[in-house]
Amino acid sequence: MLRALAIDFNSYFASVEQQERPELRGQPVIIVPVLAETTGAIAISIEAKVLGLQRNCRIAEARRQVPGIAIVEARPEVYIRYHRRLKDVVETCVPVKKIQSIDELECALTGDFTEPARALKLARQIKVKIAREVGPCLRSSIGIGPNWFLAKVASDMQKPDGLVLLDEADIPQKLLHLGLGDFCGIGPNMEKRLRAAGIGTVAQLYAAGSTRLRGIWGSVEGARFHDWLHGGVQEREETRQQSIGHGHVLPPQLRNPEAALAVLHRLLQKAAMRLRHDGCYAGALHLSVKFRDGTHWSGDRHFNETQDTLHFTHALNELWTGRPHALQTRAPLQVGVILHHLLAGQLHTPDLFEADKERTRTKLLSAVDNLNQTFGKNAVYFGGAHGATAYAPMRIAFTRIPEPEIEEIDLQRGRRLKAKKTPPPPGDLDEFPPDEPQ
Ligand SMILES: [Mg+2]
Repeated sequence: MLRALAIDFNSYFASVEQQERPELRGQPVIIVPVLAETTGAIAISIEAKVLGLQRNCRIAEARRQVPGIAIVEARPEVYIRYHRRLKDVVETCVPVKKIQSIDELECALTGDFTEPARALKLARQIKVKIAREVGPCLRSSIGIGPNWFLAKVASDMQKPDGLVLLDEADIPQKLLHLGLGDFCGIGPNMEKRLRAAGIGTVAQLYAAGSTRLRGIWGSVEGARFHDWLHGGVQEREETRQQSIGHGHVLPPQLRNPEAALAVLHRLLQKAAMRLRHDGCYAGALHLSVKFRDGTHWSGDRHFNETQDTLHFTHALNELWTGRPHALQTRAPLQVGVILHHLLAGQLHTPDLFEADKERTRTKLLSAVDNLNQTFGKNAVYFGGAHGATAYAPMRIAFTRIPEPEIEEIDLQRGRRLKAKKTPPPPGDLDEFPPDEPQ
C-alpha cells in the first residue's frame, strides 16, 4: 500500500532565481552565499549540473569551467517566500505531513491515493499546479512509496522533473542498482561499518535480518532501517529522550532581566552540549520564566532540527525579545530552557542552505565541547552570542571565564562586564525540573 509522497524541488535556489529573473532561464547559474571568488556554491542550476558543475564548487573554478556563468548572491528570504507558496499549492492537492527542508516536502497518502494509478495522477496534478500557480521553473522530483523512507529514495532516483513510484512488489528489484550511500540513514561512517560487516550491496543489505542490522547500527535504529527498507511504517521520530532542558532558580542578585538572560544562555549552552553528546538534533526551543509576583510566561520557537548553539542562541534571543511588554521590567525568579522535538543524528537531513556552514560549525562545536570536558564546564562559551542582535558566525567570540559562575552581560556591547563574586552552591542543587513544552 502506498502511504507517502516525497517532493524534492530540483536545484531549488537556482530555479527560484530563474523564475524571478527571466534572463537567467535556461542558463547555467550558481548561487553563492556571498560574492567572493573563494566562496563555494550552495546551489547550482540544472543547466550548470549538465555542464559538470557540482555544489560547493568555488566561484573561480565555476568561471574557469563555464565561462560566462551567472553568479547570483543568495536571497534566503525569497526562497522562504517561494517555499511557503509551494507548500500552500501542494496542500491544496494532498496534506503536507512534514517539511523536511526548504526544498523537500513529505505528504501523506490516504484513501484513493494509496492506489498506484491515483497516486501517479496526483503527482502529475501537483506538478501542473505548481507550474501554473508558482511558475514553470519550479520543477520537482516526486517519489511515491509505502513509507516516507522509500518515497524519498524514489524521489532521488530521477532528476530533474522525476516521478518514480516504488510499490512493495518493486522492492528490492528497483533498488538493486543503488549504492548503500543513496539511502537516507547511511552516511560515510555507517557505510564503512556495513562494509566491514560484509554488506556492500543493496541486495546484501536487503537480505540482512533485522537483528543483524540492529547489531551493526548498535541501536534500535538498525531494526527500524530494516523495517523501512522492507516497506514497514515504524515511526521515525522516536528518540531515547523527548527533550533536554535545564532550569535555574535565580539568586537575589540575578533577579533582573539582563542577568536572567545571561543565565538562560548558560543553561542553553549546557543543554546544547548534552544534545550533541547524545548525538541528537532539536527542532524546537522552549523558554519559561517565573516571576517573583507569581506570574509565569513561556514561549516556543520551531526550526529545522539542528545541534548548533548559535542557532539556538538566536531563537532564545528572539523569544526573549518578544516577551510581552508588561513583563519586560518584571523581576524574574526562575528561568528554564528546553530543547525538544529531538531527532536521532542519523535521521537528520542537513538543511540545504545551511549544510556547508553546518559541517564547519559541527567541527567547531565539538572542539568547544572537548575543551569544556577537558577544562571543566564553561571553560569556553559563546560570549559574543550573548548580544541579542548579532547572529553571524564571524562574530563568535570565545571568552575565558575565570570562575565557573554566571556572569552579567552587557547586551549592547555583547561582552562580559563583570564576574559575580559569590561562588555558586556545589553541584546542581538549585536546578528544578523544567516545565514540559506545550
Ligand atoms: Mg532538491
